[in-house]
Amino acid sequence: MIFCCPACGGALERHENALVCSKGHSYDLARQGYVHLLPVQQMHAKVPGDTKQMVDARRKFLALGHYDAFRDTLRRLAAAYLPHGGTVLDAGCGEGFYTAALLETAREKGGHVAGVDISKYAVKAAAGQHKGIDFAVASLFHIPCAAESVDVLTDVFAPIVPGEFHRVLKPGGVMILAVPGARHLYGMKTVLYDAPYENEERDTDYDGFDFLGAESVAREITVEGTENIEALFSMTPYYWKTDVAGGERLRRLNTLQTEIKFRFLVYRRR
Ligand SMILES: [Zn+2]
Repeated sequence: MIFCCPACGGALERHENALVCSKGHSYDLARQGYVHLLPVQQMHAKVPGDTKQMVDARRKFLALGHYDAFRDTLRRLAAAYLPHGGTVLDAGCGEGFYTAALLETAREKGGHVAGVDISKYAVKAAAGQHKGIDFAVASLFHIPCAAESVDVLTDVFAPIVPGEFHRVLKPGGVMILAVPGARHLYGMKTVLYDAPYENEERDTDYDGFDFLGAESVAREITVEGTENIEALFSMTPYYWKTDVAGGERLRRLNTLQTEIKFRFLVYRRR
């Protein structure tokens, strides 16, 4: 069990349908097998993180295969750095699309995978679909893992919390961040905006980490059907900040062609 008590930091042991620490703090295991480790004082919204509708849209879009190359690259990078018997933590795991691939890597090395996300709906979907992974509803700002307990930490488009990631990683452990490339979803942005802009690409330095390098993966994709286009749109931050006219232009399309590009930034914890 990689998770520890979010109240006192103590080790958690499984008792029937709950995880319990030595001080008696108890956390129910849901029927799907995940555990809720987000104390009320860390919940800044009543229902934090992705909604059920957003989670369903992500599952629908990711099942189309357009992002498989990103998933395969993440798996290959994790495999390159995971030691035998090591632990992978997927920080901001969502509905587990990437986490499930990381499990294959971990199994080849006799290791272990855990995923945390602040969205209860995402974690519920992840745990319901992918077995053999420890999933918890938790904040990336207060990860319920002991210091120096993780060998490889992955973060795909989730908030980056360098201090907390440094705390949970072992010395010599590796952090793999996936961030949008300059023209990621540029075809979608040209429909949504009169003056679309490119994302900034930079290799940020983080205290306590050595930058090992970056790898880019780019594709040109064609998304067919208004429902699939809408599913992709609702996964993006643009969904929340596009004016009505932009959204309407996108909803009139039956086919969307767009570039997609992820950058994978790899860091070693000192
Ligand atoms: Zn406790």
